[in-house]
Amino acid sequence: MAGEKTPEKRAIRLIRSLMPDPDPSDRPVRIIHVCGTHEQTITKHGIRTLLPDNLEVLSGPGCPVCVTPAEDIDRVIALAESGITVLTYGDMLRVPGSRASLADVRAEGADVRTVYSVNDAVRIAEQGVGEVEVVFFGIGFETTAPSNAAVLMNDPPPNFSILCSHRLIPPAMDALIDDRLKIDGFIAPGHVATIIGTHPYDRFAEMGYPIVVTGFEPIDVLFSIVMILKQIHDGRSVVENEYARAVDESGNTKAQEMIDQVFEVADANWRGIGQIRDSGLAIRSEFGDYDARLRYDIAIDPPVDLHPGCSCSMILRALKTPDECELFGGVCTPQTPYGPCMVSTEGTCHNWFRYGGRSEL
Ligand code: SF4
Repeated sequence: MAGEKTPEKRAIRLIRSLMPDPDPSDRPVRIIHVCGTHEQTITKHGIRTLLPDNLEVLSGPGCPVCVTPAEDIDRVIALAESGITVLTYGDMLRVPGSRASLADVRAEGADVRTVYSVNDAVRIAEQGVGEVEVVFFGIGFETTAPSNAAVLMNDPPPNFSILCSHRLIPPAMDALIDDRLKIDGFIAPGHVATIIGTHPYDRFAEMGYPIVVTGFEPIDVLFSIVMILKQIHDGRSVVENEYARAVDESGNTKAQEMIDQVFEVADANWRGIGQIRDSGLAIRSEFGDYDARLRYDIAIDPPVDLHPGCSCSMILRALKTPDECELFGGVCTPQTPYGPCMVSTEGTCHNWFRYGGRSEL
């Protein structure tokens, strides 16, 4: 077709052809994703600017750093201040806890270091046996849990432990459905599905939600929107796999077994959202020697998840966009993050500041 030389242009034409004509009395068609990398792809490539006005693609709680509750940041800060070496991913360093960040206490002399993987943390612990206690701050979704499980299954050094703050994506989708927002379809994160497969999403399709497991290139996101709109158009709701080059129905069963062996599913707090049933992982008692929560007597004050004026609670639930927060771009920038969603490159506010949201492009 003349003028339609790229798959991206073809996808945009399909999106427009599948959308109903705009009607001021109708609410927009609303598709939600739960992945910081998808938000980065969408903002960086200006995908929202290409969509019809009556189609919203919103960001849910998909940034692992953003949803880590202040209480757990306060706990690792308390450990660092007591003389324990705390190791964490770089994105976590500047995320504000109730009164400070890990970067703040490091500046005051605490031994807080960034690592690229849990294996780096184990190596540092091995070098300090008999001298220092080492705690790895284990955050993230189903994607990072297997490597932490593998470490605990392989007799890490006795001075090593994990403060586990893993979260699970499907229960967060349940929470979004239970919230105020009316959702028409889900873009599911492809990297999570490489571990859990597509089956855990079947129940959402049975509830009537079209769902597409999606990769991370702009064309992946555009075609997932096409696939969801096609399901809506046809009156279907099934799980489709746009990311078949990396994901199959069963996922990585070996990784799933390792997660099951080391962790048990538990209720968990999500920053700005609150407690979600069965949405976290806790270290099983068999591995209790490596559980920093059991190993150390960690006293913290009542946590403050969000400070006054920060709208992360609404943003993580897709009830607001960053430009609707009064502090966005003024008080709160990536250089001066006031709330958790502004710190990480996966944070919605960070990406809207860096690349612009729909209204600014
Ligand atoms: Fe919170 Fe800053 Fe985002 Fe506002 S702009 S919601 S203060 S992180």
